Amino acid sequence: MVVVVAVLLALGSIAFTLIVRGKDVPETPAISPTAHLEQRKAQIYENLRDLQFEYRLGKLSDQDYQKTKVDLQRELAKVLAEIDAVKPQAPVKQAAVAAPASKAKPGSTKCPHCGATFAQALKFCGECGKAMAS
Ligand SMILES: [Zn+2]
Repeated sequence: MVVVVAVLLALGSIAFTLIVRGKDVPETPAISPTAHLEQRKAQIYENLRDLQFEYRLGKLSDQDYQKTKVDLQRELAKVLAEIDAVKPQAPVKQAAVAAPASKAKPGSTKCPHCGATFAQALKFCGECGKAMAS
């Protein structure tokens, strides 16, 4: 009996440790891989606006304004290029998910009972009303 209790206590503490550890691990944010780049892009746009604002107020010399503007635009181009490089991966994933659905289509667009065919997959035949098993 004592052994059973000891084992249960041991298991309990292991489970407790695992649960606590699981909570400690930072959750991987389910945001898009371009999220931080989009954030950076927004920040650069804001800096450009601020720069233009300050220039209009006469706080910046024409030379400073042009130089900073070029720097920001160069950085912006870099961020946009990075976003373009990352983005094409997303539609590929969606296509992979969509593929099985289109594979299932041919089997269920033709009724096995009366032979009627339909433009899209149906659960029940629109002609005879029977189940459209593939
Ligand atoms: Zn039918």
